Parts: sequence; C-alpha cells; structure tokens
Amino acid sequence: MKTALITGANKSIGFEAARQLLQNGYTVYLGSRDLQKGQQAAQQLYAEGLTQVEPLQLDVTNSASIAAARQALGQKTQALDVLINNAGILGGMMQPPLGTSIGTIREVFDTNVFGVIEVTQAFIDLLRQSPAPRIVNVTSGLGSLTLHNDPSWKYYPVKGAAYQPSKAALNAYTIMLAYELRDTPFKVNAVDPGYTATDFNHHSGPGSVTDAAARVVKAALIGPDGPTSQFFSDDNAPETGVSPW
Ligand code: NAP
Repeated sequence: MKTALITGANKSIGFEAARQLLQNGYTVYLGSRDLQKGQQAAQQLYAEGLTQVEPLQLDVTNSASIAAARQALGQKTQALDVLINNAGILGGMMQPPLGTSIGTIREVFDTNVFGVIEVTQAFIDLLRQSPAPRIVNVTSGLGSLTLHNDPSWKYYPVKGAAYQPSKAALNAYTIMLAYELRDTPFKVNAVDPGYTATDFNHHSGPGSVTDAAARVVKAALIGPDGPTSQFFSDDNAPETGVSPW
C-alpha cells in the first residue's frame, strides 16, 4: 500500500488532501503540530470508514519535532511515496514592505520556507525508497514574481513583505530540488490550491477545500510521464493550469 505524509493536515486543505488520498487507497500519516488536534482529525476520518490514517506530531518549525517524526515514521514504514508540504501561515493581512517587522517576516519564512526544506531533507531517505516518489509543495498564486510585475494581473495590488516572498522562495526551492532529483523517478512540483475559504483567510476565499485539495492531490498522483518542476495554478492560468514563476 502506498504511503503519504502531509504537514498541517489537522484541518482545512491539508485535512481534505488526507481524506482524498485515503479515498485513493493511500495510508496517510497526518501531520499536526498539536497531536491532540491530529488525533481528533484522524478520528473523524476513521469514523468515515477511512481507517488507514495515523496522526503524527510534526511542527515544521521545530527541528526536534521533525527528527522525532522521522524516527517514528521509520518504525511504521520502509518507504514514503508522497510528501505534501502543506503547512503554511499568512503572517497577518497587512504586510507593507516598509512597515512589516523582521520578526513577522522571519516567522513566515520559518514555516513556509525553512520548515519545508527541513522536513524535505529529513524525509528524503524514506522517499528514495519509493519506486515513484512525489513531493508537492503547497504554494500560492501570490508567489509568482512574473505576475507581480504585471499590472493587468487580478492580484497585482495584493503585495506583501512576508507571505508573497516566502512563497516565491518556496517556488525557487521547488525548482532547485526538482533539478537535484532530475535523473530519478521523483516528481517535484509546486501547487497553488487557489483562493479558498479556510481559517487562513477568515473564510474569505471563494473556493472550496474540496477543489483546493483536489489540485494538491492531483500533483501527488502524477504518473511516471507527468511533469516535474512545475508551478500549477488554475487560478493564475485557467487555460493551461501552469503559472509563470
Ligand atoms: P489553515 O486553514 O490556516 O491551515 C494551516 C494548517 O497548517 C493547520 O493545520 C496549521 O496547524 C498548520 N500549521 C501552521 N503552522 C505549522 C507548523 N509550524 N507546523 C505544522 N503545522 C503548521 O490554512 P489553509 O488554507 O489550509 O492553507 C494550507 C496551505 O495552502 C498553506 O501553505 C497556504 O499558504 C496555502 N494556500 C492557501 C490558500 C487559501 O486561500 N486558503 C491560497 C493559496 C495557498 P494549526 O491548526 O495547529 O494552526
């Protein structure tokens, strides 16, 4: 049976991605920084008949937590087929480049960039044991540098000093990682789930978590001939589904 680890999966898009991967027959390790919340989320899936789910305490900003999660997972499985780096924070609604504190910017980068890198490095050996490993970095359409320089883009005024640069950095890491793994069966992609109603934005987004998670899961299920090093965004590119970086 195939295995998947999702960070920040106790609620919202990560939780729904867990549900959809379970429905696809995966065993899902449900990452949650608060173990109790992870247990409750797993119980909810269990009650739906999706029983191949296990909570895993994992705070992506805490090296000891990442190391403990890696050790715990190594005792449960020999191989990891899918890693979804989903955990992310916004860092507040207003982030003017000249008025956002360095502390806020560091906090956002800690979760959205450094957390992804540390988790990926920690679990890469388990992923290498899979015949078809997939890494999905959950980014945002707001991470597109090309579109941020296009005044006709619908999100052109949605600028910020922490979140947008963090997702641009995550996109950069995705390209670098995909390159390092280019001659392997790995597929490494960045996926924008779309502007979605979750706690993240006080439920202001128009999209559903079902559709958002489906975009993420689609990249997790990419076949051997599928793309790597892509930035998927239906929101930024409704016709092609592939956003400019
Ligand atoms: P959400 O409702 O705020 O959920 C975020 C999840 O990440 C929660 O499970 C949260 O755990 C977890 N998390 C935060 N910091 C963490 C840490 N240090 N370690 C482990 N888990 C942590 O957000 P969402 O809307 O589902 O967003 C998921 C991803 O999609 C994020 O990467 C976000 O940037 C991206 N995204 C969202 C939208 C949107 O419109 N919603 C649009 C584009 C991209 P707690 O419950 O403990 O806080």
